Amino acid sequence: MVDAKCKIGIMGGTFDPVHYGHLVTAEAALGEFQLDQVLFVPSGNPPHKDPIGVTETKHRYLMTVLATVTNPKFEVSRVDIDREGVTYTIETLRLLKARYGPGTELYFITGADAILEIMSWKDPKNLLQMAEFIAATRPGFSLGRQNDMIKRWFAQQEKSLNILQVPAMAISSTDIRKRVKHGKSIRYLVPETVDHYIYKNNLYGECSGTHNRP
Ligand code: ATP
Ligand code: MG
Repeated sequence: MVDAKCKIGIMGGTFDPVHYGHLVTAEAALGEFQLDQVLFVPSGNPPHKDPIGVTETKHRYLMTVLATVTNPKFEVSRVDIDREGVTYTIETLRLLKARYGPGTELYFITGADAILEIMSWKDPKNLLQMAEFIAATRPGFSLGRQNDMIKRWFAQQEKSLNILQVPAMAISSTDIRKRVKHGKSIRYLVPETVDHYIYKNNLYGECSGTHNRP
């Protein structure tokens, strides 16, 4: 009998900060695709975002560790953080493939918004050959009419796009940063440890040390 391949989910993100939308999506992917593990990969220097204004890598990494520590199937990888310069997903997947070896299948998990951007990423045709792709539903980001176009594009590369239905979580890091800045509660949007970490380190405030917990 041939051994079944080990299946690893890869959840890339800025995680500024990590929130329950990310965690619920990863958990849904674990169950739906029978993954052995989900690896959260915080970006180093994200190519798709203005690096100015993105919180220090150290904080984003530590919040991701805090958020995932209670789930034995969640891990955090430093693969993008420890690399110099701009990190492209295709390089990340190459490195992870080499690290895990041929007995492992990678599943790249993204929200509906991020899958729409894939075609603009570096070397998209080769990227598609590196992993299976999972697009999670995300409130406010319907694939709509683009759905057919993306599916056609995947089919041209002889790949299929896996759609993952996630219980509606209209949470975004942008909204959480705004809430902190305006003194609104973020309780129940992020794990308690992440909530505490944000206030302890004065992240997202108007200026350091001035915002109080609502
Ligand atoms: P920002 O508002 O700063 O862009 P974000 O909430 O989109 O933050 P990211 O770190 O950019 O979080 O996202 C990482 C990955 O998680 C992306 O693939 C994104 O589509 C997905 N994602 C984020 N929030 C959700 C959510 N609520 N439901 C499903 N997927 C999500
Ligand atoms: Mg985003």
